[in-house]
Order: sequence, then structure tokens, then C-alpha cells
Amino acid sequence: AAAASLALTLSACGQDSDGGSEDTKKDAKGSTVGIAMPTKSSERWIADGANVEKNLKAAGYKTKLAFGEDDPDTQVQQIEGMITQGVSALIIAAIDNKSLDNVLQQAKEADIPVISYDRLILNSPNVDYYASFDNEKVGELQGTQIVEKLGLKDGSKKGPFNIELFAGSNDDNNTRYFFDGAMKILQPYIDKKQLVVKSGQTKLTQVTTLRWDGGTAQKRMDDVLTAAYKKDRVDAVLSPYDGISIGILSALKSDDYGSKAKPLPIVTGQDAEVASLKSIKAGEQTATVFKDLRELAKVAANMVDSVLNDKKPEINDTKSYDNGSKVVPAYLLTPVSVDKSNYQKVVIDSGFIKADAVN
Ligand code: BGC
Repeated sequence: AAAASLALTLSACGQDSDGGSEDTKKDAKGSTVGIAMPTKSSERWIADGANVEKNLKAAGYKTKLAFGEDDPDTQVQQIEGMITQGVSALIIAAIDNKSLDNVLQQAKEADIPVISYDRLILNSPNVDYYASFDNEKVGELQGTQIVEKLGLKDGSKKGPFNIELFAGSNDDNNTRYFFDGAMKILQPYIDKKQLVVKSGQTKLTQVTTLRWDGGTAQKRMDDVLTAAYKKDRVDAVLSPYDGISIGILSALKSDDYGSKAKPLPIVTGQDAEVASLKSIKAGEQTATVFKDLRELAKVAANMVDSVLNDKKPEINDTKSYDNGSKVVPAYLLTPVSVDKSNYQKVVIDSGFIKADAVN
């Protein structure tokens, strides 16, 4: 429906005789929009690429989509290629949020508007709009899942429980929003010693996971179990992303967690990826956070369409996202907490993932 209304808006613009330059509008329609996604190693970005293309094509644009293989230099080259090719706008989900300043300067000089997709691009004035989710809220949901499932939230249990903390990639601006959101919920329990971090690793800089890599998280979980859990058991693990959660669960299982004597801890996640939904269904991963990427793609495509037609895109946040150079006007969508009790309804019945992928 949104795509149809986009197309309608566009054709309406063509007939419109007042204001704006007809040339811009004609040129905009049929032009090519460059889409730079970070990696194919996670399902979500593949879906994002496809969804953004679908929306733009439905609105009459051509697209050029590239995946950066989680390598910042590759992504910069891909964006340079798009600028040289003469794209009319760029939608970028950055790999390293601080590596794009030069290439965005080139975009500016070529008069190409830039939408920062999902992850905010830092230290550049040449970011026009930001399309994302309420990232702090994602972390709050993860923290809440932990204190609820442990029985701390409703006071039915007092603890102390042992918890370990994991965060995302240090070059992704979302990482600190997720972590701060989660710690907003968890810190009061840590202060009251109802939650104890046996490894002592509580600072963001101690718990990040470069490029969100599951293997890296698995290794750290192995190390933490060896160093701090010879005698004790870990009761909860804050994980920011499903791929990391699966790595953490592998480390736990190879240390006999998941047996009757040693149940798996609460493990959070994000993205509702198929492997994690299966794990949730099997009673291993506890929860995830669902973000409707179909909506995000629509928001980003609409932003491009508006900007290219000299209209102001719809935004709902003008204060949260300062990129170090300016406060970037944003449209933020709402994330949803998902566990065994509601994944069917939220993720499958909504058509986000096909039932036979999980069941
Ligand atoms: C995204 C998450 C994703 C993570 C790893 C973050 O920037 O917001 O949805 O799980 O990157 O790809």
C-alpha cells in the first residue's frame, strides 16, 4: 500500500504545476539510487537490500545495490563507484561509522543526498536524514527480558544471579545505544548486587564484539567461562544480536550447559533471525528483538523520494541522534520484544518469516 501511494505521489507530482522544478521531478523518476549494505553474513541486511530495492522500484526508480563484506574500505570503494556512476541519492548502512567522511564529501559535491540507514554515520555534515529504530529501546527490551525471566522484576526472586554482558561492534554507532539501553535496566540490580558480573567486565570497551561476529563472541564466552565460572554458574547473558547469541550458546553447550544439572542461562538477542527463532522454539535462546525491516525499507525509500522531489521527508525525531557534526533528523520505528510465547504471532503470522523456515 505504501509503495502504491509512493507511486501515486510521484505521478501526482508530475501533473503538479505550482512550485518545485518540474525538471528535478522528471529527472528524479527513473534515476538510479545507490544502496550500500554492510554484509551478506547476516540475513537481515540481505532482506534490507531486497526490501529497499523493491520499494524504490515500485516508485519508479532504478537501483544499484552493493554489500560491503564487512570491510570498511570495500564499502567506501563501492560508494565511490556509485557516485561516479551518477546515482541520484545514496542509502547507506555503514560498516565503520567513522570511515565515510571523505566519500560523503564527494557525494555532497555531486549534489547527492544521503540517507543513513539503520546505523548513524558519524562526523560528517553530509548526512541528510536517518532512518532507524529506537535503538536505545532495543537495549531496554533486552535488559527487561533478563530481569523478567530471572524473576527480579516482579520481585518473586531476589538473586543474586550471575550475568555476563556482550555488546556489538565498536565501530557501529548503534552499539552504545543498545548497551546503554540495556544497562539502564540492569545497572540498578547490579548496584544492589542482585546481579553479579563475575568476569568483572562491565565497561562497554571490555565487552564489544568486532563486526558483530558470532565466532568472536563464542571465543570470549569460552574465555569468561574458564576464567570466572569454574565453581559458579552463569544465569543470564546479555547478547545484542542473534548471531552473537548463537556463538554464546555454542560456548555454553560445550561447557555442559543445557543439561538438567546445568540449565542454559537466559540469553537475549536481536533481529529474529531464523537460526535464533529455531533456538527459541527449542528452548535454548530465550528471546530476541524483532525489528520490522519492511517498514524501515519503506521509510528510507520514502525519504529518498521526498528529497528528490524537493519535499520534506516525514521525520519523528529531531534530537536523539547527534553525529558529532549535526543533529540528524530521523524517523525511528519501534522494536518489539519476542520470545517463545509470541514469535509465531509477531514474526510468522505477520509474514516476516515463512512458517516452514522455523517449524
Ligand atoms: C543493527 C542490528 C544488527 C547488527 C548486526 C546493528 O547495527 O541495528 O539490527 O543486529 O547491526 O548486524
